[in-house]
Amino acid sequence: MATKKTEAPRKKAAEADRKAKAPGDGAKGGPPPKAAADQGPAKAGPTRRAAPQGAPQAAQEPARAGSPGNGSRPRGAKKRPKQIAIYGKGGIGKSTTTSNLSAALSDLGYKVMQFGCDPKADSTNTLRDGSYIPTILDLLREKGRVEAKDAIHEGYNGIYCVEAGGPSPGVGCAGRGIITAVQLLKQQNVYEELGLDYVIYDVLGDVVCGGFAVPIREGIARHVFTVSSSDFMAIYAANNLFRGIQKYSNAGGALLGGVIANSVSSGYQKAIVDDFVLQTGTQVLQYVPRSITVTQSELGGKTTIEAAPDSEQAEVYRELARRVEAHEESVTPRPLDAQELRAWANKWSDQILAVERGEARSAGARI
Ligand code: ADP
Ligand code: MG
Repeated sequence: MATKKTEAPRKKAAEADRKAKAPGDGAKGGPPPKAAADQGPAKAGPTRRAAPQGAPQAAQEPARAGSPGNGSRPRGAKKRPKQIAIYGKGGIGKSTTTSNLSAALSDLGYKVMQFGCDPKADSTNTLRDGSYIPTILDLLREKGRVEAKDAIHEGYNGIYCVEAGGPSPGVGCAGRGIITAVQLLKQQNVYEELGLDYVIYDVLGDVVCGGFAVPIREGIARHVFTVSSSDFMAIYAANNLFRGIQKYSNAGGALLGGVIANSVSSGYQKAIVDDFVLQTGTQVLQYVPRSITVTQSELGGKTTIEAAPDSEQAEVYRELARRVEAHEESVTPRPLDAQELRAWANKWSDQILAVERGEARSAGARI
């Protein structure tokens, strides 16, 4: 197991937060999570971990998709992690949000794996002081076979980082990395060997094509969250994702946990996202404002949770983590069809100034 070069300091704020908030003490008052019941928050916090005992076996590139990963487990079997997928338009803030979520969950004492599924392969950078890790597809290309220990690298607070990677430019399907990587870790039994509490897939969601739909379609992830701003293209991508989720919802696919409203601070931005979730039968899980602290942390190669744990923005991400922790029930969203989406956008084109001037109120916020 490759380890991160610098030792991430334990954060007083996170410690205090952990002491103040028992697991399950989430915004929605959900029951304590299985993870906490199974092993509780790590007493001294997760530390740098060596390669897992009984390291999973190497495997050739697997041939076909596996079965759903979240069924009930027989007595005595190792626990299964809560698997969630974060989708959204490119550049909308998925990796930033996911990395801060992973960091906040690990500060709560959970064993977390962040699984980057964007061909850009930059999902886990800020968990590792800005450094890149070799992707599963790169390793496969180089060696013809991949052992999990070569693909899993440790980041902030013991978070396991994996990047699926993408095909050589101009060749093959961009989603192939996800299919290959997911199958490979599954075949090697990695999730159970590592005793993970959370696996978080960070997936490019501009197009929900075969490969990118894998975490949803195969029922690998149980809950999907989408990061969206109030920009129309971000909403358009979220609506497309909802169509993908709806399509597989009757076949054991993942359902929607909610929208993470990124760069949504006030006024018309909030009103637009609130109205979109109302129209599509979903909810906003958390509003995340645009913040210079995020930019500053990213420039330093770190998450906000690591670089600025006492900032307001870090608290926003910790609250997001508590809401994810408490989240149990996801839904099948009701996407708008092309005409409805166009009409919805036109309505906002007319209303936006009135909302901004305070002459009209937004509707649909659930929190
Ligand atoms: P994605 O993974 O969706 O492609 P990123 O997470 O890489 O997007 O974010 C794109 C850029 O936007 C990054 O430079 C990131 O720092 C910035 N960003 C994302 N969310 C915020 C935020 N809430 N405040 C400030 N900058 C943000
Ligand atoms: Mg990204």
